[in-house]
Amino acid sequence: MTYPDATSPEAPAELRRRYRVERERRVRPDGTRQYLAADAEFGYYADDPYAVASGAREPLRDDVDVAVVGGGFGGILAGARLRQQGVRRVRIVEKGGDFGGTWYWNRYPGIHCDIESHVYLPMLDETGYVPEWKYAPGEEIRRHAVRIAEKFDLGADALFSTSVTCLTWDDNARNWLVTTDRGDEFRATYVITATGTLTELKLPGIPGIENFQGHTFHTSRWDYGYTGGTPDGGLTGLADKRVGVVGTGATGVQVIPKLAEDAGHVYVFQRTPSTVDVRANRRTTARDVGADHDGWARERRDNFLRIVSGETVEHDLVADRWTETAGLLEKLLPSFRRPADRQAYEAAYEVADARKMNEVRARVERIVADADTAEKLKPWYRYACKRPTFSDTYLQAFNRDNVTLVDTADTHGIERMTEHGVVVGDTEYALDCLVFATGFSVGVSGVHSGKLPVRGRDGVHLLDALKRRGPRSLHGLTSNGFPNLIQLGASQSASSVNFTHVLDEHAVHAAALVAAAEARGAVIEPSREAEDAWLAVLAEGAPDHEWFHAECTPGYYNGEGRGRPNAPIAYPHGAAAFHELLRRWRETSMSDVLHTERPC
Ligand code: NDP
Repeated sequence: MTYPDATSPEAPAELRRRYRVERERRVRPDGTRQYLAADAEFGYYADDPYAVASGAREPLRDDVDVAVVGGGFGGILAGARLRQQGVRRVRIVEKGGDFGGTWYWNRYPGIHCDIESHVYLPMLDETGYVPEWKYAPGEEIRRHAVRIAEKFDLGADALFSTSVTCLTWDDNARNWLVTTDRGDEFRATYVITATGTLTELKLPGIPGIENFQGHTFHTSRWDYGYTGGTPDGGLTGLADKRVGVVGTGATGVQVIPKLAEDAGHVYVFQRTPSTVDVRANRRTTARDVGADHDGWARERRDNFLRIVSGETVEHDLVADRWTETAGLLEKLLPSFRRPADRQAYEAAYEVADARKMNEVRARVERIVADADTAEKLKPWYRYACKRPTFSDTYLQAFNRDNVTLVDTADTHGIERMTEHGVVVGDTEYALDCLVFATGFSVGVSGVHSGKLPVRGRDGVHLLDALKRRGPRSLHGLTSNGFPNLIQLGASQSASSVNFTHVLDEHAVHAAALVAAAEARGAVIEPSREAEDAWLAVLAEGAPDHEWFHAECTPGYYNGEGRGRPNAPIAYPHGAAAFHELLRRWRETSMSDVLHTERPC
């Protein structure tokens, strides 16, 4: 396939037409309903394979200063920042058997983070840890999460293998009653929620999925008991097995080369190919990353954030594919700087996009020996329609004799499953094992999903309030009617591809609020006027790139092709500016949300 020269006048129209065809081929009428949740008869898919049996324990009936819901990086950072503010009684409640969140659950072979480790891993300055690889393996990241928790002594009071079932504000006692699925009923003056976004695994609703007699599991619950080996590989249990993989997103791209190394045969059931760019992982020294002075990690992280937030900086310290494509990435972010000359911006954007995607497609052609397979592996959509991926082993895996690519685009995925395997078109692929690398549902976890009921002042249910008045907050972190509740996350604040950085800034803010409230004996609660003012700031810059997502191939970024129903409204000037705004607000206006009397 030849590529239109990105700068030729025909290129934008020609590519748009091709992209439209590819999108139409893939949009399914059942949208997000095509997936199955891991509950009821499929509940076992979500069981924790890593927990060291915790056994029964006595339910807790006590008081703490702060309850933190979630023990991933958000919760750990909240705990650490609270400790730095001198708060002693902090209880993190976590569903998994240990700290780590995403990095606790996802331990599949090949797992790495593709954001540079020196900016992704938080609190490097504080812990003195310097990663040795540009992109760290998952286990190193998980261990770093535990390292922070240990440094700030967060483990002693933490509750693992425990889910919070309800949060109820007690206006007389001025604290929250926290109940859990282990029978705990304890009180917390403050609650910080850090429940994550991509936490609820989803399965493809393939007809007959329940008939398959072979082994199955989701990548976020890897069954090493069956496969053998570790996240580094050595999956000896698969040596004589026919293994199928459903899913070629960021997870599939990392798993498949590892399966290819060890399995008898691997069938990759692809629906939409990923954008697979150069990874160039390498060992780094402290000198390479400038880890020779206090605050080096903060500087590097700020530099990265500013670049991927669309700001101009003097030096690009990270200098990787994320920073190189920053101009194309703003479509990933809910926030977006409105260009002065929209038409010129769009034209330049389309040329840059065509160049990048041509480069990505040409790379497939260069690496994959079989022309037919290469053709199927080429992504035909704009950059960042799907999460960009990076690998120097994925495309190469398709040159192996024991790897077969099965394209399922025309049949909207696998058509059905039988006792013995998987059917696509006229072919039944007999399998011993099928791995679901099918990702996670968005917007179905935490306090906005109904899975964690929150009753605020006067017994008002948070979900009812959301339905009645829409999401309302100050900075996305606090809400009127829900005193002393701080929600970490991206809604109505600002996000970034480096999400741990975002979480850390939120954690710093949350801890400062708690410390100030403690010092004054006050309750944290923004007034409705403060919420109105914040909503006005957000509305001013409501993103105008809905068209972009509406034209993309379906996926979780665009509600499976229906536009962007899940897109949080965000601060329009990007994450770096948002963090600066929070810093200034803490210096000048924090007392506005601290009340010794009930606010209006
Ligand atoms: P994704 O949602 O990105 O991918 C799911 C995959 O499953 C897609 O390829 C999808 O195809 C495919 N799929 C779903 N249903 C079917 C079906 N019925 N038949 C065939 N294929 C099907 O999930 P991931 O777990 O890959 O990634 C989720 C997110 O996790 C990423 O976007 C990223 O944010 C994060 N992540 C980050 C990593 C990192 O290095 N930092 C590594 C891994 C994940 P289709 O595209 O056609 O829908």
